[in-house]
Amino acid sequence: GLEGKEGVLVVLGLDNAGKTTLLHRLRTGDVRSFPPTDRPHHHTESFECQGLKFQAWDLGGHEAVRHLWEDYVCESSAVLFVVDASDSDRLEEAGFELDALIGEKVVQDVPVAVLLNKCDLEEALSSAEICQRIQFDELQRMQGPDKLAIFRISVLRGEGYQAAFRWVANFL
Ligand code: GDP
Repeated sequence: GLEGKEGVLVVLGLDNAGKTTLLHRLRTGDVRSFPPTDRPHHHTESFECQGLKFQAWDLGGHEAVRHLWEDYVCESSAVLFVVDASDSDRLEEAGFELDALIGEKVVQDVPVAVLLNKCDLEEALSSAEICQRIQFDELQRMQGPDKLAIFRISVLRGEGYQAAFRWVANFL
């Protein structure tokens, strides 16, 4: 999907959704675990790979970071919004952040791929349940059906995100 493409991809989501693991896997091809203490607080991860620049931030509970990623979103080709599909307790929080994101003016014309991560886990919720709880239909109505898509992925197993990147590549 992304080979030979250029652009900026902004990776957002609650802490613990799997952003760091995803970027590490893209960068190195392997999976390792990142204890929270390994990383600066709600910090930003960034790397470049073959013309593509990835920038990741934690969302949730800290409005202060909003201005940081906002500047990148307006020049980005797409946003990857990572959700922990196994964390039922924080699904509304993730939905709230996604709703706020899509409500942002700078995101209006930017395609957003929602990556339901950790689908390897037994407790991962079905897409139907997640869509209902984050009011995906309403989000899609706001963003436009061709600018918002949802994917089930497992960074751990290396599954699902390739399809998301193929979708994103259409916009690059
Ligand atoms: P971040 O805060 O969004 O950067 O999340 P991390 O990348 O640090 O991941 C949080 C935790 O989820 C770590 O313990 C990861 O090993 C774990 N994790 C990430 N992706 C997956 C996945 O696809 N499946 C499972 N089971 N665990 C995952």
